[in-house]
Amino acid sequence: MGRIALVEDHERLAQLVVKALAQVGIPVDTFGRVDAAWAALREGDYEAVVIDRGLPDGDGIELVRRLRQARLSIPCLILTARDALHDRVDGLESGADDYLTKPFAIEELVARVRALTRRPAQRLNTVDSFADIELRPDGGMLVCSHEVITLAPAEMQIMLVLLRAGGQTVRRNALELAAWGLTEAVTPNALDVALHRLRRKLLAIGSVVRISNTRGHGYALVEA
Ligand code: CA
Repeated sequence: MGRIALVEDHERLAQLVVKALAQVGIPVDTFGRVDAAWAALREGDYEAVVIDRGLPDGDGIELVRRLRQARLSIPCLILTARDALHDRVDGLESGADDYLTKPFAIEELVARVRALTRRPAQRLNTVDSFADIELRPDGGMLVCSHEVITLAPAEMQIMLVLLRAGGQTVRRNALELAAWGLTEAVTPNALDVALHRLRRKLLAIGSVVRISNTRGHGYALVEA
C-alpha cells in the first residue's frame, strides 16, 4: 500500500492519525498548510489524501478543487468540525470522495482511509478478469460470458484480492482484512461462509473458475 497525505494543522490530532494508520501498515506524510500539501500532492505519488477544512492558509475544500482542476484523481477524505448539510454538499461537490465530521473515532477514520485506498480513482473503470470471469466492482457484478451475478460487498473484496493475485495463494487473514477491515468484528467462520457463497455463484454462472484451498494456509483461483 502506498503513502497517505494528511493535511491537518492540529498537531496532536495529526500525530494520533499518523500513529493509528501506522498501526495498520499505512505510512503517512503530514502537512500543516494548503500550499505545502499542494506542492507535495502535485509531485508525490500518494494513494489518498485526508484534508482538514480549517487550515491556516485556507479551506481544505479549495485544495480538493485545485486537485480536481489539475485532473488529479487522488481519493480525498474531508475532515470538518461543521456538520451542516450544506457543508457536506460543498465537500462532495468540490470533488471529495468522502466526508468525516469532527470529533470522530480514530477507528472510523482508519476504516474510511482503508475504504478509499481499496478503490483508488484510477481503478474505478478497470475490468478485473481471470480465465472466463470478470469483476465489475462499481456495479457489484461478477460476469461470465453472458451470465451476470451480483456479489455482496465483502464477497467482491475477496474476489478482487483473489483475482489480482492471479492464481497465487492468498492467506486467510489477508482475505478477512480485505473483506471486513480491522474495525469490524469478524466471526471465525465469516470467511468460510463468504467463500461458500462465492463458490456457489461461480457454479451458478457456469464459470470454469474454482476457489481452491491450497496447502491448508490460503486460497487461490484455479481453472477447473
Ligand atoms: Ca484545523
